[in-house]
Amino acid sequence: MRVVIKFGTNVVAAKNNTVAKTRLLEMVRQLAILHAAGHQIALVSSGAIFVGRHRLHSLSGRKDIPYKQMLAAVGQVKLLNIYEQFFDIYNIAIAQALLTRGDLADRKRYLNARNTLDLLLKEGVIPIVNENDVVGVEEIKIGDNDTLSALIANLVDADLLVILTDQAGLYTADPRRNAAAELISEVSKITDAIRALAGGTDSEMGVGGMSTKIQAAELATRSGVETIIASGHEANVLVRLVQRGENLGTRFPAKISHVESRKRWILAEASRGSLIVDDGAVRAIIKQQKSLLPAGIVSVEGDFARGSTVTVKNQTKQEICRGTVNYKAQDIRALQGHHSNKIEEILGYNYGLTAIHRDNLVIL
Ligand code: GLU
Repeated sequence: MRVVIKFGTNVVAAKNNTVAKTRLLEMVRQLAILHAAGHQIALVSSGAIFVGRHRLHSLSGRKDIPYKQMLAAVGQVKLLNIYEQFFDIYNIAIAQALLTRGDLADRKRYLNARNTLDLLLKEGVIPIVNENDVVGVEEIKIGDNDTLSALIANLVDADLLVILTDQAGLYTADPRRNAAAELISEVSKITDAIRALAGGTDSEMGVGGMSTKIQAAELATRSGVETIIASGHEANVLVRLVQRGENLGTRFPAKISHVESRKRWILAEASRGSLIVDDGAVRAIIKQQKSLLPAGIVSVEGDFARGSTVTVKNQTKQEICRGTVNYKAQDIRALQGHHSNKIEEILGYNYGLTAIHRDNLVIL
């Protein structure tokens, strides 16, 4: 399974305002079990600002944005250093990815981020993602890591998103104020009533609260990712959720499959140009469910960037499929008719063997 796991600041921080190293080590132990079982794991970890504050002994210090950005810069290094040491015990390599909304809103950067994370996951590396708070000015900020974790789950086509916090999940009322509050184990539809249960932000340290978690669940489930909100303070929580499929926390089943989600997304995009392909390529795409290779392309219409959605047509100009291209128009013109092993030689670089990968292709 491909799983994105999000740790809130309240997972990273201990009650006495120190870094919760024992808890993090315990989390890493569980992640190592999942990793050994073959699961692909990406982590979204908050806590940079908290750790930075701790590092600079500035616990009661300033709260303005530039100061927090400075703290994030300090804390991110220390936080990743802790993860590096802990994962190293289990001989697991980690990677750092710092992203902003600007990165994910731009097609080209989105695609590059997706390729990089995809490759890390396939190589068994655990990417640890956070918002790039240093450049995170208002306009390009995601703002909270709940939303970021849903965007990452969508980006890597995860099967499951687990958001760990200091509460057991979503309750029928605020459990800290109402003894009759009950944990909701499954939310099949996120209605206004559910959103109302979440209330506003409630956390002392992090940015999000239950409401950003519900929004994240909404975003993730709509793109085909099942989401679970659970407590990071629950014993063995990750192994129990991912490995054993235990019923912990609040589960939000996915609305559609992610193949379907990606296809809808491709169909919703405007087509930026066309690739005219030969009969062999048409057969490979339709009958054999293969990717589109440069060798099968006869001509290119339009001027489009790498990552654009284009229409694939046969030689009588009938639309065959639509997909996201790995190369810009100019490159495909240079590559058309050539074998994929010539890509590097012709362009001087390569983004893979296919013009459009099977996963990014929708047959019409
Ligand atoms: N990016 C922030 C940090 O690492 C956390 C944002 C959040 O709490 O959601 O400190």
